[in-house]
Amino acid sequence: MGGKIIDTEVLVNGGGVGGLALAVKLASRGVQVTVVEQLKAESPQYKGELLQPKTLAILEDLEIIDRVLANGHSFSSLEFIELERQISEPPRKVGESCMDYESLATPYNYALMIPHETLKAILLDKLKQYEGSFRYIQPARFTGFKDGKALIRHTKDQSIEPIHARFYIGAEGRNSPTRNAMGLKANNRTYNHHFLTVTIPRPADFTTGKIVTTNHRFLGLFPLPDNKIRTVFLIKAGTYKSMKEEGIEYFHRAYEELCPELGEHVASLESWKDIQLMIPTMYHVNRYVVENLALIGDAAHAVHPMAGEGMNLAIQDADVLGELIAWMKRKGHFDNRLLKWYEEVRMPRAKFLLGLSHLSALAYSFPYPWWRRIRIKSIEQMEQDPALHVKQMLNISGLGRWDNTVLDRLIQIGAFPKRKHTVSRSKQLQYFFERTEDYPWEKEE
Ligand SMILES: Cc1cc2nc3c(=O)[nH]c(=O)nc-3n(C[C@H](O)[C@H](O)[C@H](O)COP(=O)(O)OP(=O)(O)OC[C@H]3O[C@@H](n4cnc5c(N)ncnc54)[C@H](O)[C@@H]3O)c2cc1C
Repeated sequence: MGGKIIDTEVLVNGGGVGGLALAVKLASRGVQVTVVEQLKAESPQYKGELLQPKTLAILEDLEIIDRVLANGHSFSSLEFIELERQISEPPRKVGESCMDYESLATPYNYALMIPHETLKAILLDKLKQYEGSFRYIQPARFTGFKDGKALIRHTKDQSIEPIHARFYIGAEGRNSPTRNAMGLKANNRTYNHHFLTVTIPRPADFTTGKIVTTNHRFLGLFPLPDNKIRTVFLIKAGTYKSMKEEGIEYFHRAYEELCPELGEHVASLESWKDIQLMIPTMYHVNRYVVENLALIGDAAHAVHPMAGEGMNLAIQDADVLGELIAWMKRKGHFDNRLLKWYEEVRMPRAKFLLGLSHLSALAYSFPYPWWRRIRIKSIEQMEQDPALHVKQMLNISGLGRWDNTVLDRLIQIGAFPKRKHTVSRSKQLQYFFERTEDYPWEKEE
């Protein structure tokens, strides 16, 4: 094994959204950071595109919000439409509800869709400002540790470069060699459904998020910039192959039935080659930190995509861990024991959002009519009961946490009447995370 030993304060294995956001945070605070990324070009694989309000606030702190807003499409409401299919008649609406980010007392009272690779490009571009603190090794793969150093295999000549760092961060996504080195396991939970996803052109007036369902079908529609729309179509697990055999017309028909205004746009898809199969999973490791190793993003947790949280959890992890390491640098003392703060802040929040996304996934997992009736009722109650509405939007926004009570759940299923009084701004602000909750170690100063 040849090559010189390089020292860096933080080595980030994986230059996805989580790893790059962490690098921007660290480099902007003068921490020496090296990122190793295995891909040599953009990834052709579809990944998360929805940014929640807390993430937008973090991107503001990283000084890239203007570019993100300019390259994204924001929307504040999400419509839920339930259709009844009739033989030889057009489908009939049996439920219609709308959840609104504008119910939140924050300037970021909206979500934003941005192509995944565009966000990565903005983060990488920002890192050019910090050339003195940032090194990017690409394409190269982190393969494991030896003698207390990370081994990086350069793709071009297969040479191995050992890198010594004060902290090693696993940000490699679902298959994480850092996680393996920490002796942690990701126990995958799978679902009875998969998704087909494709981006198609959208009509200019299709500007908000929409979820359209029938007893057996689910179509999520999320507007992207440049008059495009991300579509996510639920299929029964294991049926992808047989569906493909039916020809692309099957796909055209399904979309046209659920959302006729997209009919001509979906018809522009001539083959299955642009349509990607997405298999939802959920896991959560039981530790984020072992000695001077830590995990962020999908290396630590995978979340069902129903609530659009994947990228957000990764960037929110990066924010807390980055702030903590930058604080240690400022104090002049890197200490493994202080990494526990990161785990203490982020693990319960991620667990909560994994649970919330899982519940949302279950709501669309079973085709039974009684199950559907509960779902329709529950979304309707959430829309119309002010406390349920604010709690749901606050919880998915990442800005705070306001747990549902037993009474909330009873109202949600229609066993109790809806409340009429609105939730005051000051009341909901009590449940927003304060700086001292995001970065509790600062209290020690
Ligand atoms: C197929 C798919 C579909 C998804 N769909 C959605 C969705 O619809 N909605 C949603 O919210 N979320 C979705 N997600 C999740 C979301 O994209 C992730 O949560 C988010 O990208 C996590 O960011 P990350 O930085 O932790 O990991 P990733 O984005 O996975 O980035 C990890 C990076 O590490 C690199 N890497 C991996 N191993 C190594 C190594 N050994 N050495 C060097 N580099 C390495 C990879 O090339 C990659 O660039 C999806 C994820 C996948 C995989």
